[in-house]
Amino acid sequence: MTFQNTREFAQELDAQDILAHYRNEFIFPEVNGKKVIYFTGNSLGLQPKRTKAYVDDVMNDWANLGVEGHFYAEKPWWDYHERFAKPLSKIVGALPSEVTVMNTLTVNLHLLMASFYKPTPKRYKILCEAKAFPSDQYMIQSQVQFHGLNPNDTIVEIQRREGEHNIRLEDVLAKINEVGDELALVLIGGVNYYTGQVFDMKAITEAGHKAGAYVGWDLAHAAGNIKLELHDWNVDFAAWCSYKYMNSGPGNASGCFIHEMHHNNTKLSRLAGWWGHNKERRFKMEPVFDPVRGADGWQVSNLPILSLAPYLASVDMFDEVGMDALIKKRDKITAYLEFILQQIDLEVDSTFEIITPTNSSERACQLSVFLHGEGRSLFDYLMKNGVITDWREPNVIRLAPVPLYCSFEDMYEFGQILKKGIIG
Ligand SMILES: *Cc1c(COP(=O)(O)O)cnc(C)c1O
Repeated sequence: MTFQNTREFAQELDAQDILAHYRNEFIFPEVNGKKVIYFTGNSLGLQPKRTKAYVDDVMNDWANLGVEGHFYAEKPWWDYHERFAKPLSKIVGALPSEVTVMNTLTVNLHLLMASFYKPTPKRYKILCEAKAFPSDQYMIQSQVQFHGLNPNDTIVEIQRREGEHNIRLEDVLAKINEVGDELALVLIGGVNYYTGQVFDMKAITEAGHKAGAYVGWDLAHAAGNIKLELHDWNVDFAAWCSYKYMNSGPGNASGCFIHEMHHNNTKLSRLAGWWGHNKERRFKMEPVFDPVRGADGWQVSNLPILSLAPYLASVDMFDEVGMDALIKKRDKITAYLEFILQQIDLEVDSTFEIITPTNSSERACQLSVFLHGEGRSLFDYLMKNGVITDWREPNVIRLAPVPLYCSFEDMYEFGQILKKGIIG
């Protein structure tokens, strides 16, 4: 499709967009009395209007029922997490028994590593991407130290080649082969938070398994953004947060995936708690832990219902929309944003460099743009003029035109504001 950098053209794309009405399902912050152009749904998604009712229901049940809400609330609390299994499994390409929701992301990765990182004197190394999200780096380093090992000779990072912004698949696969039978675990962010690069999770998982390692994924930037087939790819485990593309609110609960092939392996070590215990016998207060045979067997505490309620609102919305429709719009609006950036670049004779892969199989919603020659003042100008982006050192802005609530006209309008910000 050939795009045009005009308001009329953008409005025409909005008129053709079958998801356009979902924009009205969200609450937008305002700047100068106008809804912002919101590009930071990869950091904290906007609040869906329907969410408040889900939270109010819990507050009312608590007020009216007290402890009885565990069993007699309209959505009983004691098995509230089970409501996620079906819709969430569709979002991440899993069986319902393979997903659960609990805790927060980094905590869940720690819990999953307790099961899937069991270093032996021979097989102990962990492969991850260089410049991973800081929490992942700290998490992996501390796990290694917890096992009494030295991070320097245990953690193997896959580097970018000199002068390149993204990691090449062939380099990941070569590194897996090189580490070979010393490799215990591959743990990578499925979509890189900085560049927006999407990794070939199927190929990397297969290669990791061939080397005899477990393979897990941090899907913080992937859940609700890309097509995942975690079951078919034979991923051992994965976890994601719900507050980025999934709009469940600041710091909210995390989703987990544990492949069916591990459900009956009661020998896998885990850090257990009562909510992972055999559902029928959970309240018998027995002394010996008998895990639920499924992802729910990794549950620890009784559920934080007030944080699961907004997540459920979001999962219900994703279930209505479906990932296929979402991805179709995602690709079109991202391509339109890329076109707008290129047009403005020509008009202002600037030098934007999109560091996100151009190849559509390696990118999703996010474009990361290196603003050569521009500084933080441009970012500040955008913020003051109602364009919410995200600034990363040295001078990269990340733009996520989230398909559920961003419009094509937003992309056009952004281009105009950007141009003004540069030429003054
Ligand atoms: C956002 C993000 C996190 C955040 O982890 P929390 O435990 O929810 O604070 C972790 N890893 C990656 C890759 C992220 O993008």
